[in-house]
Amino acid sequence: MLSHSHIDEINLRARQISLQSKENALLLSEQACQLAIQAEYHLGYAQGLLNHARALAQDPFFEDSFEEAIALMRHSLMLGEEHGFQPHIVDCLQEIAGAYYCQCEYDLALQYWSYCLDLSLNLSDDDAYIQANIGIGQIYFSHDDFVAALEHHRQAAEYIPRIKNDKLIVSLLINLGGDYLSLLQYDEALKVLQDGLLHAKKIDHLEYISETLCLIGQAQWALGQLELAQCSLLSALKINKKLKNQWCLASNYLALGKISLAVRDDLLASKYLKQGLLHAQRRNAANLVFQFEELIAKLAELNGDFKLALAYFKRFHLGQQAVKNQLSPYKLQAMKMQLEMESARLENADLRRQRASQHREIQRVERLASYDGLTGILNRRGLEEQGCELFQRQRINQQSLSVLMIDVDHFKRVNDGCGHPVGDKVLRQIAALLKSGCRQDDLVGRYGGEEFVVLLPNHEGVAAIEVGERLRGLVAAWIWSRIHPELKITISVGIASIVDDASLEALLNRSDQCLYQAKQQGRNRVVV
Ligand code: GH3
Ligand code: MG
Ligand code: MG
Repeated sequence: MLSHSHIDEINLRARQISLQSKENALLLSEQACQLAIQAEYHLGYAQGLLNHARALAQDPFFEDSFEEAIALMRHSLMLGEEHGFQPHIVDCLQEIAGAYYCQCEYDLALQYWSYCLDLSLNLSDDDAYIQANIGIGQIYFSHDDFVAALEHHRQAAEYIPRIKNDKLIVSLLINLGGDYLSLLQYDEALKVLQDGLLHAKKIDHLEYISETLCLIGQAQWALGQLELAQCSLLSALKINKKLKNQWCLASNYLALGKISLAVRDDLLASKYLKQGLLHAQRRNAANLVFQFEELIAKLAELNGDFKLALAYFKRFHLGQQAVKNQLSPYKLQAMKMQLEMESARLENADLRRQRASQHREIQRVERLASYDGLTGILNRRGLEEQGCELFQRQRINQQSLSVLMIDVDHFKRVNDGCGHPVGDKVLRQIAALLKSGCRQDDLVGRYGGEEFVVLLPNHEGVAAIEVGERLRGLVAAWIWSRIHPELKITISVGIASIVDDASLEALLNRSDQCLYQAKQQGRNRVVV
């Protein structure tokens, strides 16, 4: 009989060597999977699949194996969810988000990292919480929103004293340094990066050492410390040449090229820029390529070679445009929605953290009476109690209030087709989605069976419709195949706002009539 610990060991090794040797990692992870199947060891099998995907993701030409890696990660995630392996679910979410991020699929990356953020908070998994915040910050960074990036990275940094994972700390400090650099706060940048360098040296992580040195060089240069800057960048280059990481080499040469150009050492600048451009092209890094082209054009212009300058300026503009157009309008829209959701979710997360430390016991007792056991959100009783108070308050203050009556479309088919437990999972997920898409002073509750109610204080008309549409869109866009392969879920929403209603009940009735019309008109829609 094969012991589980033996399989765990193989998995651990597969994971450890995936950075050095893709082939060996693939062999080991396959072996782990086979042994786990024989031993009927579900977690071992799920981890084997994930390690296999990790090895594939190490490929410098990840694009080629991307689909396969994602499929494996998803499968592994599904197994984790089926068997309730929470820490493994978190691992899968991180990997999937990271893979999508590398492919510039920012909306999906954000979705997975947000999910991860939520889960890691529930599990009190600080490492995963930091990792997800780093990722979300990087997404903002990619969209030139450095303020938001910094906010996320700072939020993660609050957890540094609580964790022991130096690699994660360095990664976070590098990100913070990058944010400060982009925000032109060079002193701050230098401070965190030097701290990062210390940690990187402590664990002797060459890639991180070179990455911090490269950023330190840029901060030093911006602070007018020319010689120090060159020294840092050249030390980074020495390591990068050894590691042969195309992306790091390219960004290293870019920084060196910029400095040489600024001090008008044209010969050296030309050497660095051409060399760097080659690496950027090899790595297929469009956002670096166009930066090189711009600098090469400037250099040519300075040297009076206007023909060459024009050629490179043209390439620069085309490249820059291509990068900017990488997000299609549809994707941009989805991103915007996700980002909005995500900030609402963070507000909730903060609140939840505060609450957890206060009056835990009182809350527990209250919860039993007012909260729904399946979904954890308010039940009908809690909703009516808190809703009535809210209704009175809004009326006295002559403020608006809207009710969203929400019903899952064709939910009976879910139960009939996939089974009651899947139906329950869907209800839990919908509750989480609704909650994450609302502000903290909104009330979200399960009104009964597969019906939910959201009360929106200070919303009426268009504002309420926007929220309704947002929630409807979020449910429709959620990747339901995570729960069951062929699952697709939509909701219908009826909305009513206070006019001269005498009670919350009257308002609820009116929203219910709108919901009825939404169903009549074909479902998956919002009716006012
Ligand atoms: P429609 O689009 O018209 O709303 O169709 P529907 O199938 O969603 O509506 P219907 O009211 O016919 O079915 C609701 C189903 O919800 C029936 C019931 O078994 C199921 N349901 C209610 N509460 C729960 C629950 O707690 N868990 C699960 N799994 N199912 C539930
Ligand atoms: Mg119903
Ligand atoms: Mg229904």
